[in-house]
Amino acid sequence: MIEVAEALNTIVSKVLTNPVVEIEMASALNCVLAENVYSPIAMPPFNQSAMDGYALCGNRKNYRVVAEIKAGDSAEELELNLGEAARIFTGAMVPKNIWAIAKQEIVVTQQDRIELLQTVNENANIRLSGEELELDALAMQKGEILNPAAIGFLNGLGITSVKVYNKPNIALVVTGNELIRPGQELSKGKIFESNAAALSALLESMGFESDVSFVKDDYHSTLKVIDQAIEKHDLVIVTGGVSVGDYDYTYKVFEELGVEKGFYKVNQKPGKPLYFGLKGDVSIFGLPGNPAAALTCFYIYVLAAIRLKMGFSVPFLEKKQFIIAHDQIKKGSRAHFLKAKQANGFVSVNHRQSSAMLSSFIDANCLVYLPSEDQRIAKGSAVDTFILP
Ligand code: AMP
Ligand code: MG
Repeated sequence: MIEVAEALNTIVSKVLTNPVVEIEMASALNCVLAENVYSPIAMPPFNQSAMDGYALCGNRKNYRVVAEIKAGDSAEELELNLGEAARIFTGAMVPKNIWAIAKQEIVVTQQDRIELLQTVNENANIRLSGEELELDALAMQKGEILNPAAIGFLNGLGITSVKVYNKPNIALVVTGNELIRPGQELSKGKIFESNAAALSALLESMGFESDVSFVKDDYHSTLKVIDQAIEKHDLVIVTGGVSVGDYDYTYKVFEELGVEKGFYKVNQKPGKPLYFGLKGDVSIFGLPGNPAAALTCFYIYVLAAIRLKMGFSVPFLEKKQFIIAHDQIKKGSRAHFLKAKQANGFVSVNHRQSSAMLSSFIDANCLVYLPSEDQRIAKGSAVDTFILP
């Protein structure tokens, strides 16, 4: 059995970044750039009006309006003479030889004449071509994450595809004779399954698809399903059967399939039987079947492996300290991850921490981390907390 920190280090040292692929922008959300991106255009690509108003030729008080330029129109051919102005709208192209844009709020109009109520400075209300980015300038750097703003920014530069580290191709293998699906009859001894539901929902919320299979507690079926999962994926998550019961086959199957063990059993609660190993480039996790334990281990360990594969430089959940709002007794010598709520600098631990109970996870926004040595945490102490994404 190893400590949490050692388990996390093992994942960091063993999980390799996925190969680089070129993907369409539409699929690139949350991926990490594998190359610098240089702008194929100046941004903005032409001088743009930042206001609804008038493009002024010459710096004076009175003008004659001789043209109108809407967003999307070309003003390339338009030539104004001194004392002339063009009606112009936000985002529209500013013609040549323009002193500034006067916003319409400071302009009095009379037929085709306008008078300014205030003076305007040179280039006022003009977004100059290239003011955000020159042609060929560095737009984004290798290693940056393509968050929604980045997706919008690169689309705005007309970029259609980018090179990123490939997203993992994930298999979820859910074991247990007792598991049935909602809609089936709850016969004696059976339970409705939660892990495939929760983990595939979580993966989906992060933009990953997962191939889910269910398998009975039977050595040969487990062997076959896990073998195929490893064959076709680069990240395999098995839930259940990883413990020491007579019908727990997950670990035995990993051994039989030649999975190279990274660690098995972590000095933590929940999730003591957690397994991590590798077969070639495939990262393989055995999570405990208890749903709250499986979800905790996913957030702390599996997510880190996913992010490492995707090229994240910081793969772990954000760690912050908060003041605990109550006394907390920690029994035993295992490190604890406790479902909790943080707000305004304080954190309180939820009721129902059993690894079999998912309800306390529903409104949790963080996991309080109590290292193995702590015993009694007094109200008002600072505690380490992992922020749930
Ligand atoms: P195991 O890790 O297979 O020994 O399972 C530990 C506990 O988790 C048992 O009470 C199982 O019934 C329960 N469990 C295992 N898998 C699931 C699942 N997919 N959904 C809900 N409970 C599960
Ligand atoms: Mg089981």
